[in-house]
Amino acid sequence: MSSELLHSSDRVYVVVGGGLAGAHAVQTLRAEGVSARIFLIGDERDHPYERPPLSKDYLAGRTAREKLLVHEPQWYAEHEVELLLGARVTAVDRAAGQLELDGGSRLPYDRLLLATGSVPRRLEVPGHDLAGVHYLRRIGNADVLREAIRDRGPMVVIGGGWIGLEVAAVARQAGAPVTVVESAPGLLGVLGPQVGQRFEALHRRHGVEVRTGAGVAEIVGSGRVEGVRLVGSEVIPAACVVVGIGVRPLTDLAQAAGLPVDNGILVDATLRTADPAIWAAGDVANAENDWVGRRVRVEHYANAGGQGPFAARNMAGGQARWAEPPFFWTDQYDLAMEYHGWADPARSTVVLRGGAGDQTWFAFWLDGSGAVTAGMHVNGWDDAEAVAALVESRARVDPRALADPGTAWEAVRAG
Ligand code: NAP
Repeated sequence: MSSELLHSSDRVYVVVGGGLAGAHAVQTLRAEGVSARIFLIGDERDHPYERPPLSKDYLAGRTAREKLLVHEPQWYAEHEVELLLGARVTAVDRAAGQLELDGGSRLPYDRLLLATGSVPRRLEVPGHDLAGVHYLRRIGNADVLREAIRDRGPMVVIGGGWIGLEVAAVARQAGAPVTVVESAPGLLGVLGPQVGQRFEALHRRHGVEVRTGAGVAEIVGSGRVEGVRLVGSEVIPAACVVVGIGVRPLTDLAQAAGLPVDNGILVDATLRTADPAIWAAGDVANAENDWVGRRVRVEHYANAGGQGPFAARNMAGGQARWAEPPFFWTDQYDLAMEYHGWADPARSTVVLRGGAGDQTWFAFWLDGSGAVTAGMHVNGWDDAEAVAALVESRARVDPRALADPGTAWEAVRAG
């Protein structure tokens, strides 16, 4: 794409990043009646797609590839969105108001959205590049991993977070022996030990070996992975290793362009960066959130799906402030969970409602004032709205009433 192709009178809105935030942002720009030329630039060759099924139904072979697309391929042309796939932006020249693309071409912009997302953190141990070591971020990764799971060789999952546990569930259900190796003292540290233990018990019930507080020293094998050596020299046999040890926000472009970056691109609650012509949304944005009361960077689907359109509305002239409780869900075996809110488990009182052996249970995180800052249900669909309402209203609750499944939701509020 060269700037000569654009008439100087054309206003140009560019969205960099062909993930969920970017694909929804261009849709909103058109829906808002923006008359400018609109570009969506993504470095993947696939049309923008949804990632949650990659570690769930798509990995299990239960969802077709076409079902993942955010928009049908023809949608972009129909809405006059110029889609540059397999294209990489190498620099943002803020002084000139231009992007530089791989190959040296330049594209001017009037308004720019950075929705560059994040990439998996790499495990830097000897053997990390052996065949059979997988990361899961893109659809192609899921295709390769699905084949590996079908072989039913022993799998070692490194990282007991969302990727690790969802992949472990799919692999166990396909009949593969699975060991999860987590460096922290428990799984899902983000939820705290009480809830993490319940997920650990779930996986153990399904035959997963769980090794917590375990460091990986090396991935062993000659040419292909044969095992994972833990610190202390024990080797766990593996035909396949999946690494899910978190992500790194792709801030490089913003940083090189001199935009403030600190655990993501810093944006205000309108999702605007320090440069009035540039916004950021999704995994890459460390955004002021009026509901949380401070800046947070959220790496979940709902955040990207919400912030992309939100930033687009502000690019189209809006001034709204982001004030959404974060939300995410997981599916593992017969467990379906939804989580609303934002809480640091180490600074919260955790209240469980329902026992470890129950099919349905709930967890809540309360701050020092007794207000609910986060809540989740497990298989509690009939009560999902009540949980969300407690979180959204930051209700102050009586912890004893909240813990008692016999107390109605309306009666758990304090005072
Ligand atoms: P994650 O959820 O942040 O979990 C990473 C886990 O790996 C953490 O428990 C972490 O422990 C552990 N870990 C870090 N370094 C390790 C090491 N060297 N050896 C063993 N364990 C290590 O990240 P993820 O599972 O890789 O997922 C990637 C991103 O996709 C995340 O942003 C996640 O939220 C998102 N995702 C979300 C869903 C969902 O919402 N259902 C599903 C899939 C993916 P510490 O906490 O102690 O660092």
